[in-house]
Amino acid sequence: MKSSFQILEILKWQEKKMIKWDQNRCDLCGLCVCVCPENVFEMFEKYLTIDQDKCINCEKCSIICPVTALSIQSKEAVND
Ligand code: SF4
Ligand code: SF4
Repeated sequence: MKSSFQILEILKWQEKKMIKWDQNRCDLCGLCVCVCPENVFEMFEKYLTIDQDKCINCEKCSIICPVTALSIQSKEAVND
């Protein structure tokens, strides 16, 4: 069983993560939109939008993406 300190550390780490979308890889198949439990993605004709605030970092989208266009990274890496 995890201690309160460990849980706090995990929560702090999760807060620092974001979804990174590689537009060059994405073929707009829509699988991530279907699998996301929090409706983070919205699909348009040529692009996706991502509402990072809704994301719970479950990683379902990055696992299902057939072309590895989605990854979960630190905010620092995404903003670089
Ligand atoms: S699952 Fe991957 S390829 Fe499909 S729309 Fe999402 S990011 Fe693009
Ligand atoms: S990690 Fe989970 S909640 Fe976040 S965008 Fe992907 S599927 Fe949605």
